[in-house]
Amino acid sequence: MSDSKSKCLGVLTSGGDAPGMNAAVRAVVRTALECGAQVYAIYEGYQGMVAGGEYIAKMNWDSVGGILQQGGTSIGSARCAEFRKREGRQKAARNLVSRGIDRLVIIGGDGSLTGANIFRQEWPELLAELAEAGEITQEEVDAHPQLAIVGLVGSIDNDMFGTDMTIGADTALHRITEAVDAISTTAASHHRTFVIEVMGRHCGYLALMSGLATGANWVLIPENPPNVDNWEELMCQRLKAGRDIGRRHSTVIVAEGAQDRFGNPITSSYVKQVLEERLGVDVRITILGHVQRGGSPSAFDRYMSTVLGHAAVEELLSAAAVKEPLLVGIRQHDVISSPLMDSVKETQQVAKVIADQDYETAMAMRGGSFSDSFRTLRTLLRAQPHAPSPDQRQLRLAVLHCGGPAPGMNTAVRAAVRLGLDKGHTMLAVRNGFVGLADGDVDEMDWMSVSGWVSRGGAELGTNRSIPMLKDFYAIARQIEKHSIDGLLMIGGWDGYQAAYEVFRRRDRFPTFDIPIVCLPASIDNNLPGSQLSIGADTALNCIISAVDKIKQSAVASRRCFVVQVMGGDCGYLALIAGLGTGAERVYLPEESLSLLDLQTDVDQLVEGFQLGKRLGLMIRNEHADPLYTVDFMCPLFEKEGGDLFDVRQAILGHMQQGGDPSPFDRIQATRLAANCIDFLIAQAARPSPTAAAIGLHGGKIQFTGLEDLPRLSDKEFRRPKDQWWLGLRHIARIMAQPGPSSTALDAAAPCETEIP
Ligand code: ADP
Repeated sequence: MSDSKSKCLGVLTSGGDAPGMNAAVRAVVRTALECGAQVYAIYEGYQGMVAGGEYIAKMNWDSVGGILQQGGTSIGSARCAEFRKREGRQKAARNLVSRGIDRLVIIGGDGSLTGANIFRQEWPELLAELAEAGEITQEEVDAHPQLAIVGLVGSIDNDMFGTDMTIGADTALHRITEAVDAISTTAASHHRTFVIEVMGRHCGYLALMSGLATGANWVLIPENPPNVDNWEELMCQRLKAGRDIGRRHSTVIVAEGAQDRFGNPITSSYVKQVLEERLGVDVRITILGHVQRGGSPSAFDRYMSTVLGHAAVEELLSAAAVKEPLLVGIRQHDVISSPLMDSVKETQQVAKVIADQDYETAMAMRGGSFSDSFRTLRTLLRAQPHAPSPDQRQLRLAVLHCGGPAPGMNTAVRAAVRLGLDKGHTMLAVRNGFVGLADGDVDEMDWMSVSGWVSRGGAELGTNRSIPMLKDFYAIARQIEKHSIDGLLMIGGWDGYQAAYEVFRRRDRFPTFDIPIVCLPASIDNNLPGSQLSIGADTALNCIISAVDKIKQSAVASRRCFVVQVMGGDCGYLALIAGLGTGAERVYLPEESLSLLDLQTDVDQLVEGFQLGKRLGLMIRNEHADPLYTVDFMCPLFEKEGGDLFDVRQAILGHMQQGGDPSPFDRIQATRLAANCIDFLIAQAARPSPTAAAIGLHGGKIQFTGLEDLPRLSDKEFRRPKDQWWLGLRHIARIMAQPGPSSTALDAAAPCETEIP
């Protein structure tokens, strides 16, 4: 982008801080430098823009080094009353123009973005007035006729239109989920009831999703108050019913903006009072407060904010952003941009609709997956399923795993069992995968048999990689017949998909196989055809980034290069996204060939970097990146060539990546996918020739791919899909890792971040 050289942009974080803002600022700065533009950080939000001076600082490559893993915003944020007034905005305009800045990336909530839009509208007039007052020259006015704006939404509430997720929301869900999981263990010890208040003044996203992710027993959100006059009685009945069937504790999650259907606020203390008075139970309140904003950003927030920061600069340097202000957001994994003010207006409209008690519209505006999640939650928090209707066909649906363990498998089983039971069907659990199915290791599940599974890592039903062969099919056919299985849900990885496909393609020979079959993608490798994402990968990524954060800290006392090896089989997803989330300077993927020349180049870059003052090198390597250039080859090579400049250590993260409790995202998606799988099995069982399919996430939507299409979509030799969407992110990882053209050798040697003035 040669014409970017004359372009000069500013980046600021404004309003409430959100984890991931640093990743976005880092990506904005590095992408701008890569494009040859000049970039300034505006410290303390609009306050720094109005104050000028040292609050507006030119950034170089290293100004944003070491901030990716930090929570909050290292360039500061503030609320600024002065910017709400025209005089304040005039000062801000002068401070920008005098530095040649006429493009801004604003990372903030709807308030900050509204302010940005007003500023942009007034810009030509403000500049004309400044010229008239002699504060700037006419040449400056002519050089900057417009102010271009791109907004990124930083808000833990996930309350904004124009993006599926806002920066910080996923991390906030991590904080809430960790807290609720912890509270659940102590609550269970004492038969206690906990009321937990989470943030969200106009948006119930955090309450709803944390309720889904933790198995809460009652959830109150602003958008959908209980639709009965006496909701207190209903809540008490439900919690009592749970106690009666043996639940050891109850959790009620209240969004801070919860209200009843007449618009009266529902506070956590009111909920406590109601429960104590009517149920005579011991109730404790925990208001999570600012804990939800804090801490290191999650893997998703680091990755998403990096991708959005990169896209924001690309938009800002293009003609589109000059025409109208844009909001850059994400739809599942696709970056989308939309007119900024349309999104802001729609966001503000939901708050108005809630205030007007028009809850139906509020839920409709939140979108399909929000409403679906709410419906699913309402079923899952029941103490027992609805009774089957007398005229319905009661199906016998079996659930099993196959493949490596993936966090979220238990969550998916729990949702499938409860939702199937609630629809009046018999739910069967097959232990130990297809081996267990052939052996008839099949049990009936009831509502409480999956209690506590929502948050539990591992796979309670057992999983293995065994794919049925020859006589196994006869045994499986016999067991399907014996247990009258009407449908099969396989929750697992590559081997599970292959096993399900082998059963499916023998339908001609075994008529009992002519039942609906559905595969739910669960593999940390994220290597399954028919879905952009599989359950478990997000947990594994979070495991990797927290391990790498610690590894990086361990190197403070020495000059060291780490080669970290991650799992993934022949799929480099974990390596690349972990590279984006940890700031690795080089990622080795099995999808790319690796030559000695490549390694030589990497060594040269390392040597050059350390000569210029760098203290830490980080290379992330997928376990199958190359069969011969292994960690044991690479480390001695780097060590020898590094001489006295740096030493080299390897870290093979191993099976810890498959373990641990599932992340909130994995729990939510496992639940969502399982709900859709049960609907699929029920619908297909009613058809004369039921189909078999794999469920998947595509651009935020749930889709089914016929099992017959899997061979066409799969690269069988390398056990990965032929089309891997995330490979398109490699250039962003490269840009983030290498100094751009405008960064001089001196810049690269700069010791650390710019200090906040
Ligand atoms: P958020 O961006 O998180 O919604 P606020 O609503 O507090 O947070 O806005 C942050 C800052 O953005 C405010 O302190 C103010 O400086 C600026 N701002 C917000 N709304 C406006 C507005 N209508 N006009 C001008 N500036 C605004």
